[in-house]
Amino acid sequence: MPTAAFTTLGCKVNQYETQKILESFEAQGFEIVPFDAPADVYVINTCSVTQSAEAKSRQTVRRAARQNPNAIVVMTGCYAQFTLRRGEKLDEAHLVVPNPDKLRTVEYLLEHFPHFKTALEQARRRGEVPIRRRSRAVLKIQDGCNVYCSFCSIPYTRPVMRSIPYQELLEEARAMVEDGYREIVLTGVLIGDYGAETGSGGPNLTELCAMLSAIEGLERIRISSIEPTLIPDELIDLIAENPKMCPQLHIPLQSGDSRILKAMNRPYDQAFYLDLIRRLRARIPDFGVSTDIMVGFPGEDEQAFQNTCAVVEQVEFCRAHLFRYSPRPGTPAEAMPDHVPDAVKSERIQRLQQVCKESARRYAARFLGKVERVLVESRSKLSGLMTGTSDHYLQVEFAASPTIAGQLVQVRITDLTADGVLGEVVRGGYS
Ligand code: SF4
Repeated sequence: MPTAAFTTLGCKVNQYETQKILESFEAQGFEIVPFDAPADVYVINTCSVTQSAEAKSRQTVRRAARQNPNAIVVMTGCYAQFTLRRGEKLDEAHLVVPNPDKLRTVEYLLEHFPHFKTALEQARRRGEVPIRRRSRAVLKIQDGCNVYCSFCSIPYTRPVMRSIPYQELLEEARAMVEDGYREIVLTGVLIGDYGAETGSGGPNLTELCAMLSAIEGLERIRISSIEPTLIPDELIDLIAENPKMCPQLHIPLQSGDSRILKAMNRPYDQAFYLDLIRRLRARIPDFGVSTDIMVGFPGEDEQAFQNTCAVVEQVEFCRAHLFRYSPRPGTPAEAMPDHVPDAVKSERIQRLQQVCKESARRYAARFLGKVERVLVESRSKLSGLMTGTSDHYLQVEFAASPTIAGQLVQVRITDLTADGVLGEVVRGGYS
């Protein structure tokens, strides 16, 4: 049976769309294999949010071509769309699917490379069925952004605010659970804005979470990236009181300096962000917070950078995604004065990585000796141990049989690793 491997660069919306593409390949009969394994088809859902994301997209396409020189390498996503628009060509990409058509990637593939159609038909006749191992599904609930951060091009490309009607979401979530998923991650461009005004059919985000949590068989709901100003008390209460809600949010900080936040057109300052974290942890002790931080925004001086480091130290993020500022054409920040030299950005990224690493270790150390619920995902190639993600978003490694992939298990945290924790499954801790 032909095999296909997938990888995603960029945002959670891209992750959701990759999942949909993957499912359409599965439905055709492709066997899904990890991206670092030899595959007949590699699909790369690319990103163009920064110059570095574009460079990584190119590198990933080349890596796939090197892994199996006989494979068909397919590129889609925002960077792929840019190459089509600019008439550029990457030699290693055999097929470029326009971004608006990305959910039809498998159709493009079968049309351009009909030998896969024949192989799939033969596999079907032999009765071969791909193995499915489900753990976490991503559910896109909203699209569009009207915040207009001065560095970001998304509001220009996705200006229409649209919430997916809740009936459709409940139906999709039930289908995901029937398909074997235990956890659903809610995603969108500005999910805190989910609501009746933009087409939800009634509920806001908190109400939608409550509706989803009533689905039998769904055990965890995780809210992905949510803007700090869009987290109401009622949502905090729901997370505190409903055991299906993960006690963790991804709350973009971008900068810990109020002057830079203002220049970024972010609608909060340092004090607001810190107070939000204080309120979350007062209501839900050890609440997990992951974040995005941009380094080297125009006008970021050493003091502003130090302010960001100070916020990281204070918050103890469980994970932080750092990226360096790069001008996006047509955005207000592109025309701002005092652009930070690349060498300074690189040096600051390195320093901030260290600060994030230390503060993440301090956060993880809070869980030593405690029991965490972990969704088992895969086996680590490096350690040979099973890995999974805990309710608080810790990356946990522990000894167990690979057959438990996709299950939720209770794991006692025993030690810290370079980027996560070690643990042991509690006796009787399988669900
Ligand atoms: S909130 Fe800001 S960074 Fe996020 S998509 Fe909207 S404009 Fe871009």
